[in-house]
This record gives sequence, C-alpha cells and structure tokens, in this order.
Amino acid sequence: MKKVLAFDIDQTLNVAKTPITDDIADLLVKCLDYFEICPISGQKFDQFLIQIVSRLKDPTPEQLSHLHLFVAQGTQYYRFNVEKNDWELVYNYPLTDEQVAKISETIEKSAKELGYWEEDKLQPGDEIIENRLSQVTFSALGQKAGTEEKYAWDPDCKKREQIVAKCKEYAPEFDYEIGGTTSINAITPGMNKEFGMTHLLEELKVEKADILYFGDMTQPGGNDYPVVKMGIDTITVRSHEDTAYALRGILGVI
Ligand SMILES: [Mg+2]
Repeated sequence: MKKVLAFDIDQTLNVAKTPITDDIADLLVKCLDYFEICPISGQKFDQFLIQIVSRLKDPTPEQLSHLHLFVAQGTQYYRFNVEKNDWELVYNYPLTDEQVAKISETIEKSAKELGYWEEDKLQPGDEIIENRLSQVTFSALGQKAGTEEKYAWDPDCKKREQIVAKCKEYAPEFDYEIGGTTSINAITPGMNKEFGMTHLLEELKVEKADILYFGDMTQPGGNDYPVVKMGIDTITVRSHEDTAYALRGILGVI
C-alpha cells in the first residue's frame, strides 16, 4: 500500500485560490489516519493554512502530525509540532534579492510588450507580481480577482506560453512554469516540484514507490510534470471532484 498521498493544490484539491470544500476536507481528515498527506504547491504558507488546514474539522494533533506542508513548490517545508501544538518550519531555500528583482523586471517587461499587463484590472491593494521567497509568481489579474474572471483570462494557456517564451529570451537563467488559472511561477532551475518531492522523500524517509501524487497540470511544461518525470505514480485530475472520487475509492478498499 502507498504510504504517502501527495497533492497539488490549485485545481486538484480546490477551485484555484479558494478554500477546499467540506467534502475534500472530510476526505483528507480520514486519509490522515492511514497516510502521510503532503500538499505541495507554489503558494505561500498562509494560503496553505487558509485553504486547507483551517478547513479541516477538528483534526487531532496526532492527525495533524501526518500532514506535511510543502510550501512554494516544496522549497519550504512545515510540519506540525505536537508538543508545541503549532506548525514549525523545517527548512527554507529562498531566492536572493537580486534574483527576485531580475525575475520581477523580466516578467513585467514581457507581459507589457505582449499587452498582457492588466494593472487596470487589479483590485485595490492587489499586485500582479508577488515574491513568495522561494519563487516569484505572476498572477495576471492579481490574487483577489474572481474565479470566473480568472478562468476566462487564459483557458488554453496561450497567453502565458507567450509570456514564458519572452521571459526565456530576456532571462534564460530562470525556469518559468504555468500553474493555476492565470499564474506563472519563476524559479531557479531545479527549484520545482522535483526539488520538493526529492526533499519529501528524505524528510519522510520513504521511496518513490510509496507515493501517489495527484495533479491537474501533469502535461510537459505544467507545474506537476516534474513529478511525473521523476517516475512517481501520478493521477491526473481535471478538478477537485476527480480527486474526491479517487480518494473515496482509496478509502473504500483500506
Ligand atoms: Mg494545479
């Protein structure tokens, strides 16, 4: 039997950038009794708390000790310290200030040249480019835009593919991955989900064959593809409904 269930977040556990449903929350709590549960995503720690942890209904400290948060594609790892009854940072690999500045300039310039810099559509206080410590993230319409608006912006990824192509011309020393509905994550090469999953293997002392991974962007160029490439068993989902369906099946045969 698999020991670890690892999950992309956006479009795999939730509707991008929104908290998980009650259904997914209940299934995850049940899974914590049998598996190590590892969400891994480009998002920041506070979003893991808002979108996942705070949605779990009355998990015990013992259950939470089996939840492992691989933040910013696993370049930061948080686990639950039962004695302190709080989350603790186990490791962190941040970008340098120079790297953040270079990536931010590159993405802004590329998006502007293509006419995809939508500053006028931002809600007050929102921003298009966000420093997530281990990666810089472009969100075309900001973090606060509505879900429908986000879905409509680039459903076939074509706009983001053009931005990525330009970024690669201007700053080829970084990697650019398409994720979520309007996002591009810029990272230093190798700081993708392969990095996170490799550290997961070390931290949890498991083998690749012990892991089952769920993701929606498993195609080449997608931010879940590095996991597929590593040879980890992967389930490609279209939405959290597919994930719920698969989890019910797994829990049904335990
Ligand atoms: Mg996703």
